[in-house]
Amino acid sequence: MIELREHQRNGIQTLREGFRKGYDRQLLVMPTGSGKTLTAAHIALAARDRGRLTAFIVDRIELAAQAAETMRAVGLRCSVLQGANSQMESEHEVLVGSIQTIARRGLPDPGLLIIDEAHVLHRAHADLLEGYSEVPVVGLTATPYTTGLGRCFSNIVLPATIAQLVARGFLVPAVAYGPSRPDLTGIDVRGGDYVVAQLSARLRGGAITADIVSTWQRLGDARSTLAFCADIEHARVVAESFAAAGIPADHVHGYQDLKQRRETIERFKRGEIRVLASVACLSTGFDAPIASCAVLARPTRSLTLHIQQIGRVLRPHPGKRDALILDHAGNVEMHGMPEDIAIGQLDEESKTWRARLPDSKWLEPCPHCSKMLAAHVRQCSCGFRPTRGNRIGVRDGALVRIDEMTRASLRRLFQELLGLASDLDRDRGWAEWIYREAVRQAPAKSWENLAPLAPSEETKRIARAVRLRYADERRAA
Ligand SMILES: [Zn+2]
Repeated sequence: MIELREHQRNGIQTLREGFRKGYDRQLLVMPTGSGKTLTAAHIALAARDRGRLTAFIVDRIELAAQAAETMRAVGLRCSVLQGANSQMESEHEVLVGSIQTIARRGLPDPGLLIIDEAHVLHRAHADLLEGYSEVPVVGLTATPYTTGLGRCFSNIVLPATIAQLVARGFLVPAVAYGPSRPDLTGIDVRGGDYVVAQLSARLRGGAITADIVSTWQRLGDARSTLAFCADIEHARVVAESFAAAGIPADHVHGYQDLKQRRETIERFKRGEIRVLASVACLSTGFDAPIASCAVLARPTRSLTLHIQQIGRVLRPHPGKRDALILDHAGNVEMHGMPEDIAIGQLDEESKTWRARLPDSKWLEPCPHCSKMLAAHVRQCSCGFRPTRGNRIGVRDGALVRIDEMTRASLRRLFQELLGLASDLDRDRGWAEWIYREAVRQAPAKSWENLAPLAPSEETKRIARAVRLRYADERRAA
C-alpha cells in the first residue's frame, strides 16, 4: 500500500481529534500537489474499519474515475455511481459519484461524506448537507476562499502550507516578475470578477500580447510554460503570437473535441509544445509537472483562481528547481504569492473563511528588472537597491497631484479607497489610514455614509505608495 507522508498523516489525525471535539463538518485544506485524494482514501479506510460506508462526492463526473482508482489502490471496494453506467461492486465500501448524480439518486445510508473540491459550493451541496445532517462530513480543497463556505463547515484542518511543502521539497519555490499590467479602467466587475468579454477585448490588443512574448523570450529561459488567458479567443491570440515568433505553442479549451484536447496536452507533456495557452485555470486534475513557468495574462480578482493558476507549475519534476511566474495581470500585486497567503480564521459574522497577507508580504516589481520584491528587500538580485527616493517613481508624482486635487476628487479618492479596502479584505479604518497618509488630512466628517467605488489604477498606486513608505519607515526605525 502507498505510504502516507507526514502532513497527510497529520491531517487525518487532526480531523479525528476534530470529530472527537464535536466538529462534525470539517474542511481539510491541502495545497495542489499534496496528495488530497490519497489522504481521502485513507480516511475512507479508517471509516471502513468502523463498518461505515464512505460517499466520495466529486464536482464533475470526469473526476470520478481517477478518484475510484485511488480508492481501489489502497484496497477499498469502490463503486462508481454514473447514470445508467454505474459500476457497482458487491459489498462496496466507498461510493464515488458526482454531486449532480447523488442529488438525483440519493445515497444508501452513508456513514461519512467526503466532498472533493469543496470550494465549488453548489446549491446541491448545501441541500445534501442538510439532508444528511447526522452524517459526519469532510470537505477537501486547496482554496478555502469561497464566500459562504463557513456556513457549511465549522472547523478547518491545515496539515501543511505551500511554504512548508516547498521547504520539504514536495513543491518547488516560485520566483515572480511583474513586467506589465494592463489598464483595466472601465472594465466592469460582476459576480466578484472582471467581465470576461470586456477583459478579453482589452487583452487581445497587439501591444499587450507582444510584450508577453518578448518578456518570455527575455526571462522565460525556454521553459515549458502555461499561459492563463481570459477566454478562448484570447488564448488563441496568445498562442498564435508565440507561434509567430517561432516558439512552438498551442491552446486548449473546454469546448474542444476531447481527443484533440488530450493530444495537445500530451504534446505539451512531451515538450513538443513549449507554450500552452488555456482559459482560466485548466481543468481540475490537469497534471503536467514539466510546466515550470506560468504566464499570468488574465487579471482576476479571485484569490482561488490566482492560487489555482500558480499551483499548476509548482509540482516537482526532474531537473526543475523553481517555477517562474511572469505576471502581466497584476495578480501577484493584488493577491500575493500563494506561499505567503495565510488561511484566516472563521469569520463569525459573514461566515466566510478569510485569507490574510501580512504587510511584509506585499510585493511590487523592481523598477529595474521587474522582479517582484517584498517591501523589506534591501537589494534586488539585479543589483538595484530600493530606497525611499527611488522605490517607486510614481509615489511622489501621485502625492504632488494630490495637493492639487479638488474636494470632489478627494472625495472620489476616498470612495475608491473604500472600494480598494473591500477588494483587499481590509476595513474602513484601513481606507481612512491610507487617505490620511496620502493627503495629510482626515477624511471629511460628512463622508460617513459614502458608498465604495471601484478603485482606479492611480488610487491603487497611491495606496501602494503609502504602504511602502510605511514599510520603509518601520525598517529605518
Ligand atoms: Zn531588480
